[in-house]
Order: sequence, then C-alpha cells, then structure tokens
Amino acid sequence: MEEKFFPFDKIPMDAKALTQKAETDEDVVLNISLRPANLLEFIGQKDVVNNLKVALTAAKQRQEPLEHVLLCGPPGLGKTCLAMIIAHEMGTKITATSGPAIERAGDLIGILTNLEAGDILFIDEIHRLSKVVEEFLYPAMENCQIDFVIDKGPYARTIKFNLKRFTLVGATTRSGLIGAPLRSRFGILHHFDFYGEEDLSTIIKRSAELLGIKIDSAGALEISRRARGTPRIANRLLRRVRDFAQVKAKNEITQEIADQALKSLGIDAQGLDEVDRRVLKTLVETYQGGPVGIETLAATLNEEPDTIIDTIEPYLLKAGFLKRTSRGREATPLTYQHFGLRTL
Ligand code: ADP
Repeated sequence: MEEKFFPFDKIPMDAKALTQKAETDEDVVLNISLRPANLLEFIGQKDVVNNLKVALTAAKQRQEPLEHVLLCGPPGLGKTCLAMIIAHEMGTKITATSGPAIERAGDLIGILTNLEAGDILFIDEIHRLSKVVEEFLYPAMENCQIDFVIDKGPYARTIKFNLKRFTLVGATTRSGLIGAPLRSRFGILHHFDFYGEEDLSTIIKRSAELLGIKIDSAGALEISRRARGTPRIANRLLRRVRDFAQVKAKNEITQEIADQALKSLGIDAQGLDEVDRRVLKTLVETYQGGPVGIETLAATLNEEPDTIIDTIEPYLLKAGFLKRTSRGREATPLTYQHFGLRTL
C-alpha cells in the first residue's frame, strides 16, 4: 500500500489534529495495515479479550452466532478493531455502518435483509441512532424479525420479515446515552479503558515494525507516555516523530528524538495538547478552578459540549486533571501544579 509522506516543513503542526480522536484520512490509509487482524495480535484490554475468547469459543462449539455485543469506551481504543476481529474469529462477514448514517428505519431494511447467518453488523456511535430506528432494531435483535409497513392510508399493511441470525456489535463513546431497552438486548457488554504505558509501547513497536520505522525501547516508551492512553493517538504520534527522525536524525527514533519532536508538536510531558491546555487554563483562569457547567465551559471555549464530553475530558478525568461533580467541572491540585500555579 502506498504511504503518504509529509516533508518535515509540511507536517501539520496543529496539535489538535494530532490528538483529535476522529480518524483522519491518513489514519484510514495507514491504519488499515496497522489494525490487529486477530485476537492474538490485539494488545491489552486483557479482561475484554479473555471474556470475549470464552464467548467466541463457546459460540463456535455450539455452532451458533455470537450474542449481540456492546463495546463502550473513548474513541481510538480499538472498538472497531475488535468488531472486525470478532468477524474474523467467527469466520463471517462484517457490514459496518454508524448511528448517524442510518437516518430512517428504511435504511436498515436493506442492510439487515442482506445479512447471512452469523454475519456481523457493526454500528459505530450506536448512541446516535434515532428513537424510531432504535425501536425498529429491537425485534431484529430479539427474534430476528422486522416489521415494515407498505402502502399508505387505508391500504397500509404491515409485513413481517424473517432475518437470518446475525450478531449486532454496537460501539459507543457514551454508554450513558444508551437507554435500558437497547442495552438489555445486548448479551455481552464490555468497557474499554485507556491503555497503560507498557501496552501502548508494545503497540508502537508493532506499528513501527509494520511501517519499517527504527525505534528503540526508550523512544517507544516516550511516545507511549504522551499518547493519552490511546492507540490511535500513539500511531499518529509515531508517524509524526518518524518524520522528525528522518529529517533531523539518522532515521531512528530514540527517547531524545521523540521528546524533541513531541515538544515541537506542542505535546507536553503529560501528553496534553493545545486544546487540553486551553480547557484547563480556562477553567483555572476564567472560572477560578470551577465548578463550572459543561455548557458554559464549552461556550467560553467556542467548542461543542459533545466534543468536550466525548473526546477531550475522558483522558483529563482519567489522568486526574479534572473532576466531574454534580455542580460541574472542577480543576484539581494536579492542574495547578501542571501550570506551575498555586491552588486558590
Ligand atoms: P475505536 O473504534 O475505539 O475508535 P479503532 O478500533 O478504530 O478505535 O482503533 C484505532 C486504531 O488504533 C486502529 O486502527 C489500530 O491501528 C489501533 N489499535 C487500537 N487498539 C489496538 C490494539 N489493542 N492493538 C493494536 N493496535 C490497536
């Protein structure tokens, strides 16, 4: 596969682009080759992987499709990868779509009726399905049936259609937005947590090998420390540091090169980027450390509240830079320490 290469002076220096959670075109092009193909290659998330292994083995022994699976967790942690791996392990086909892409129940009819027995239907951002579409899914998930209405007015008739037994794999960054009726229809539910440095380091070394990049252990560890516990970000930083190593060093990533490159890209020692620092600084400077409501904070920052909730704050909460209380978001002593400020 042809790889995109950015000369160093053309590297996107926008820190937001580096740690943003959505996939960029470059991720899509390059990550296809970086995606782990099977459970053995899937690094970390031990509890999820072990439980899934049991479920997959049991389903295969019974020659039955796997129960519906719901994967929850922040973006970039491997939910889509795992959905693909499930299809690979079951030896079936995967059809991928996302909540916002399914506008009407009618959009789902074609997808569902084309599924073969045991096929995987992957719905990313499943919390963004409309109520109507969600309700249309219930009988499909429960007893492989869909009801649809044909004709209008006095001629309207409901037709029942039997589907093959498929497995729905849903992924969400906001498990709290999945209502009880949908949640209860999933037999298997897993939460992804941020990756530790060691697992991220292993992922970085694996990606470096696949991309033909030379990196030593200290270099991999330095990138992993600053990748916000997220494989997608780790792979992205690796590519940027590789550019730096190519232009400024002897094409090998060491700790020193990684540190210099990440600093010049605006990623600090804790892995926080421009946007994270802006959120925390606003909290500390404009709101005296909070508590402040998410809507108010988002308005001050000119960001969407959902962007902050979905992509910015999960890591800040996990790393202890932010507290979520009933009265809003609050800075922690660590935040003040990070900026060299005294707590109020
Ligand atoms: P999500 O669906 O949770 O947003 P993805 O499954 O798209 O995340 O993962 C983003 C990228 O991170 C993948 O393309 C892959 O390269 C990498 N990745 C994620 N999890 C792992 C893992 N456990 N081992 C190796 N690489 C991983």
